[in-house]
Amino acid sequence: MLDYYQVTELFSPEERQVQAAARKFLDAEVMPHIRDWWERGEFPRHLVRAFGEMGFLGSNLPEEYGAAGVSANAYGLIMYELERVDSGLRSFASVQGALVMYPIYAYGSEEQKREYLPKLAAGEIVGAFGLTEPDGGSDPGGNMKTKAVKDGDHYVLNGTKMWITNGSIAQIAIVWAKDEEGKILGFIVPTDTPGFSAPEIHHKMSLRASVTSELVLEDVRVHKDQLLPGSGSLRAPLSCLTQARYGIAWGVLGALEAVYTEALEFSKSRITFGRPIAARQLIQDKLVYMLSEHTKGLLLAWKLGKMKDAGTLKHTHVSLAKRNNVRVALKSARLAREILGANGITVEYHAIRHMLNLETVDTYEGTHDIHTLILGRDVTGENALT
Ligand SMILES: Cc1cc2nc3c(=O)[nH]c(=O)nc-3n(C[C@H](O)[C@H](O)[C@H](O)COP(=O)(O)OP(=O)(O)OC[C@H]3O[C@@H](n4cnc5c(N)ncnc54)[C@H](O)[C@@H]3O)c2cc1C
Repeated sequence: MLDYYQVTELFSPEERQVQAAARKFLDAEVMPHIRDWWERGEFPRHLVRAFGEMGFLGSNLPEEYGAAGVSANAYGLIMYELERVDSGLRSFASVQGALVMYPIYAYGSEEQKREYLPKLAAGEIVGAFGLTEPDGGSDPGGNMKTKAVKDGDHYVLNGTKMWITNGSIAQIAIVWAKDEEGKILGFIVPTDTPGFSAPEIHHKMSLRASVTSELVLEDVRVHKDQLLPGSGSLRAPLSCLTQARYGIAWGVLGALEAVYTEALEFSKSRITFGRPIAARQLIQDKLVYMLSEHTKGLLLAWKLGKMKDAGTLKHTHVSLAKRNNVRVALKSARLAREILGANGITVEYHAIRHMLNLETVDTYEGTHDIHTLILGRDVTGENALT
């Protein structure tokens, strides 16, 4: 991998092996097809089982539940390699691992863990995470209209979720809803339950190789055994987002590597006024920006992983890395597109696909500005967010 400072020396041999195996598999099986899938607006559903076999799904969770049990940094490196190909693939794995397996692992009963985690880890079933609603995602507690009403041994769910990754291909959805007391509860909802539908959202110009859906719940009856017993406040879904944002902080560096490498190669062979554009200071300035930000971002991600495994990671640490790494990856993709000139506007090259994908990544899982306000509140003690 791109590694200007030999940061990989800081990884264990196992972590380096995980990264190399992921890259080998993805370069052979996925990279050659990604631009076609993206252009057609198609998620490669057939790869889900292979992702499971490769240990890409919820890989940091314990082996006793069918996951790979790897370190936080090995998990991060998998996200890096997936997003080097496409943010849509990393989004699939982030949702499956951090937003579906993690809440079951952290807030589920032992029966729920044994029932669902091995199937999710193997890619036998797909999960979705429904928190955002049509009235807005940045204030998920305040805007939540989805209701869970107790009826004997069941809960009846009504509401609509919006912008839900994997929604239309999922067998289960983690749905967050308010009960009659206003408590936020999480439910494992089988998507074949009567009253549940997940129409796909079309016409996206970003994350086209990923399925995004609405979730509509009309009198969906779920048994009380489908409630995540450890949930009960906004803290639960937010803690899942911290897991997913951790993976994003790693993943986007893979996208940054892809656009940097492509722009560097192009600049060496593109001749204007008798010399390669790589010989021009303005081009070098752009390339050096990308390289510097990749190097800094990688050190940030590595340290984040160490803190995660040591149990000292705070959600604000993750906010800083998500906010920073996504924005520098997005800026780098725009610069790479610029270096490629007219060629850069076609999906024959990777830059514009990554650039458009990263617009989503900058917005979801807490927008850039929301993370600014989270960090601002942390360091000043003054709340400018709510
Ligand atoms: C492709 C895609 C996939 C997604 N997948 C999922 C998923 O699987 N599950 C899920 O639950 N959600 C998902 N989301 C939703 C995503 O998390 C939300 O889009 C995100 O939280 C932002 O919410 P919003 O789009 O409603 O914007 P809003 O919350 O309406 O914000 C609009 C703008 O206002 C700004 N803003 C908001 N509040 C403040 C404030 N207090 N001060 C200053 N500025 C503010 C924001 O920064 C933003 O620029 C996905 C989104 C996309 C695009």
